[in-house]
Amino acid sequence: MNTTRLTPDSDSHKFDVIVVGAGVGGAALALALSHAYDLRVLVVDRHSGPGNINRGESLLPPVTKLLREWGALDRCRAAGAREVSRMQFFHYKAGVLLDVPLVLPGVHDPYLVLPHPEIERVFVESAQATSRVEMRYHSRVVRLLEEEGRVRGVALARDGGGEQQIRARLVVGADGAYSFVRGALGIELPRKQYDHSLFILDIDRPAGHPDVLRTELHPDGGILVVPGVNRLGLAALVRQEDEHLFQSGSVHDKLARIVHRSPLLVGRRASPVGVHLYKLWRGHAPLYSGRGAALIGDAIHVINPVMAQGMTMAIEDAAVLARHVGPALAAGARATPLDRALEAYERERRPVNTAMIRSSHWMSCLFALGGPLGDMFQRRAFELANSWFGRNIQQRIWSRFATSPVPQYV
Ligand SMILES: Cc1cc2nc3c(=O)[nH]c(=O)nc-3n(C[C@H](O)[C@H](O)[C@H](O)COP(=O)(O)OP(=O)(O)OC[C@H]3O[C@@H](n4cnc5c(N)ncnc54)[C@H](O)[C@@H]3O)c2cc1C
Repeated sequence: MNTTRLTPDSDSHKFDVIVVGAGVGGAALALALSHAYDLRVLVVDRHSGPGNINRGESLLPPVTKLLREWGALDRCRAAGAREVSRMQFFHYKAGVLLDVPLVLPGVHDPYLVLPHPEIERVFVESAQATSRVEMRYHSRVVRLLEEEGRVRGVALARDGGGEQQIRARLVVGADGAYSFVRGALGIELPRKQYDHSLFILDIDRPAGHPDVLRTELHPDGGILVVPGVNRLGLAALVRQEDEHLFQSGSVHDKLARIVHRSPLLVGRRASPVGVHLYKLWRGHAPLYSGRGAALIGDAIHVINPVMAQGMTMAIEDAAVLARHVGPALAAGARATPLDRALEAYERERRPVNTAMIRSSHWMSCLFALGGPLGDMFQRRAFELANSWFGRNIQQRIWSRFATSPVPQYV
């Protein structure tokens, strides 16, 4: 990007780490670093405040465990996080197919749900509460600053033209699937698009509706239902050929197009806030760092959200990166020791992320089965899951997601 005016580099040497992006990944990294190390962290985001809407609300047990260690769990509860302890699968004709507890022997960390913008806000506020983190919204990174082949800072676009340069020993791109930082490092994120999208919509919560995660199965496409305060968050599968039905019309028209898929939706009111049709992708970047800068979260992997794992992956990337680079940075390291820490971060995270992208993909194939045959297969699969054998398999699968591969942080 061409610039005409440079602002004096007044912030140089003030920060150890610059995190680009204050989504869940970037905010979690600031929290993880500032909680455990005496490091000065700057987080910049192009938005005017927390608010990536409708991008997942589930804080799984491995994440709530980290949040407890980082001292942020009580803030999540104070912000209105609800605890869910069961997952149910319903069929539009047959009713309940499966009702399983989300608890495991020996796992005490809760499964919480909280609206996405609230999660981002709580993470940022918890990080700022350490007094080591400065948050600057309305700040878009437009250039990476380099010295001797290493990234040593960022340039922010200024209102009215020009740029402000800020330097730090480590720059981390936590700037989402269309990551500017990844692009500037020359690292690609090869992606495959799914043949279905998710239509996101909130409805009013029926009186007496329990705090459970529900999946509504229907041959036209399943619907994931997440409980919230006075509302239910819906994510309805939409096949490619039907996408145009959700791209125009009023929010009431759009709700009417899915209401036949579940009795839960009959007579409900749709909220106009946050209605969106999300395209879905899966992909994994070939590198997690370049020229001394690191990448985390959606900047390096995108997955089908059917298993609610994207946030978990971003937050665990943050925890692991902080554990590897934190001690090196706190010891004053530059260049080689930092590069070793970045390699160790990728060595630890890549196999875990690869496995999660794969399982989410297979689960999304099952969820997206359509038509009468798909419907019959799903019903048989859930009958099997309800057997003694099936419950054993489920416990094994759930224990993979409920217990973290990220070792104790401190
Ligand atoms: C429909 C849908 C449903 C989902 N449901 C779930 C779920 O239930 N559970 C789950 O765990 N995950 C879910 N996910 C995935 C989850 O939302 C993402 O994996 C997660 O939010 C990624 O976080 P992130 O911090 O890496 O990136 P993002 O949340 O994308 O944050 C990136 C941030 O970087 C900022 N930014 C970008 N470029 C710049 C720049 N140049 N300068 C400054 N700032 C910049 C952006 O403003 C943004 O705030 C879902 C995703 C979708 C699409």
